[in-house]
Amino acid sequence: MSTSTGFRSTKQHMLRDNKEYVSQTLMGGLSGFESPVGLDRRDRLRALKTGDIGFVHSWDINTSVDGPGTRMTVFMSGCPLRCMYCQNPDTWKMRDGKPVTLDAMIKKIDRYKDLFKATNGGITFSGGESMMQPAFVSRAFRAAKEMGVHTCLDTSGFLGHNYTDEMLDDIDLCLLDVKSGDEATYKKVTGGVLQPTIDFGQRLAKAGKKIWVRFVLVPGLTDSEENVEKVAQICETFGDALEHIDVLNFHQLGRPKWHEMRIDYPLEDQKGPSAELRARVKAQFEAHGFKVY
Ligand code: SF4
Repeated sequence: MSTSTGFRSTKQHMLRDNKEYVSQTLMGGLSGFESPVGLDRRDRLRALKTGDIGFVHSWDINTSVDGPGTRMTVFMSGCPLRCMYCQNPDTWKMRDGKPVTLDAMIKKIDRYKDLFKATNGGITFSGGESMMQPAFVSRAFRAAKEMGVHTCLDTSGFLGHNYTDEMLDDIDLCLLDVKSGDEATYKKVTGGVLQPTIDFGQRLAKAGKKIWVRFVLVPGLTDSEENVEKVAQICETFGDALEHIDVLNFHQLGRPKWHEMRIDYPLEDQKGPSAELRARVKAQFEAHGFKVY
């Protein structure tokens, strides 16, 4: 979808896989945000801690990709994980983002609030890992809720401990990446550990929040029956909070970025799942009673 309101950015998940989107994602961008001026390094660190500024990779307006309705998705910079299939390695380092004031972010949400309400959409914070900048994101969510705007957090949950219960109050929906059900596979795929994701999902469920789980299907990496079964078992612990599971086919849209950044790309020859494999995994989740897309 083309938009005159801002540039598209690539996204770590795999929903944006049509040709039109690809041509847009290569642009990337941060149009419409002014950087704060006159802040030295110490000022910036202080402002980052309080949430007066956040480091942002890019933003876009999309429909039915990062939550319900038409949404503004803000891709925050910085991520502690290093997923083998990451579509956005250029979001890994926070310092590579652009500092944006909280005021500018709130103004942007305010500008689109009528559109969000008309489409049952809202604001989504994604990344990178949006929970690396909890003060900025949670204050923006608070402002959005005060405007009556739906809020969505797209996260791996790895930094769930950065979010207080009070911060959770302002989240309506979480897109939670459960990257693997098996601990060793999770480590191999992401470089991190699995338990924080489970803990965060369970906290969300307890707090009465809605969850959409995302699982990236990579043949030979995340696709074993045992691994999928363990993902399903984790999802069961989220109870009624879990509305559905998105099984996202691995694709190679991120490969050019790895090349441009001269990072060794471990999935160079990966072709992505066949229709049969996808059907098997979908059926596995459905056998647990989940709605699967
Ligand atoms: S969690 Fe971080 S490394 Fe993993 S896919 Fe998302 S942005 Fe990339």
